[in-house]
Amino acid sequence: MKIVAPCEDVERTIVIIAIDGPAGSGKSSTAKAVASRLGALFVDSGAMYRAMALKALRTGIDPETTDFEAVIRETRIGLTARDNRTIVLLDGEDVSHLIRSEEVSGMSSRVSKRPDVRVRMVELQREAAFNHVADGGVVVMEGRDIGTVVFPKAEFKFFITAAPEIRAERRARQLSKKGEVVSVAALLQQIRERDERDETRSDSPLRAADDAATLDTSGMEFEEQVDTIVRMISGNAGDTRQ
Ligand code: C5P
Repeated sequence: MKIVAPCEDVERTIVIIAIDGPAGSGKSSTAKAVASRLGALFVDSGAMYRAMALKALRTGIDPETTDFEAVIRETRIGLTARDNRTIVLLDGEDVSHLIRSEEVSGMSSRVSKRPDVRVRMVELQREAAFNHVADGGVVVMEGRDIGTVVFPKAEFKFFITAAPEIRAERRARQLSKKGEVVSVAALLQQIRERDERDETRSDSPLRAADDAATLDTSGMEFEEQVDTIVRMISGNAGDTRQ
């Protein structure tokens, strides 16, 4: 699709692969692997909302109040790639490791309900594609609203889902690898709450774009998910849209 530079009259043609889905569906690791197989730029849009959530926790300002407007105005969020990893910068500080806690996860779905936060994040996500990819390049961006709002004209759109119980088990395994023990029941409860907030917010609720290919990964192994998507992209002369 054609992307126009923010504030300039420059246009670039970039292939966008949008991968959306609920928390714990495996879309992040799948999107990252798909990007690496295709030599594409990977953009984790959730990391931007998480950085904003960390800012909310640090300032102690309730994102459900108007006081939060000033926080949004003065916050700088950036993503950059280093050694195949996404580095998340909050006001210039590398917060990549601080934004993955359960506390930040819970707060991120609260800040992401705000339309003014969403407007700013969508701007940053479009800029990330424009500023870091040359003409003819490919971007894999994952999130909740990439195929519906950020890039509604994306050439390829996927919606990855899995049963909440499976997602909670996957998350528990991920956390236990990091030495954190959290019960599957508690994670299931958090996932349900996050789904509820993401799906029912009035601005850009989580849903599959009408022209997205839906992939239920409940019974799939990781490599199978990646292969399926890469096959659908490479085997498709056109795109996933009908
Ligand atoms: O994908 P991840 O779980 O890291 O996203 C954290 C939170 O950010 C989500 O629960 C959701 O509330 C929000 N988000 C969003 N739109 C996106 C990406 C993430 O609202 N495109």
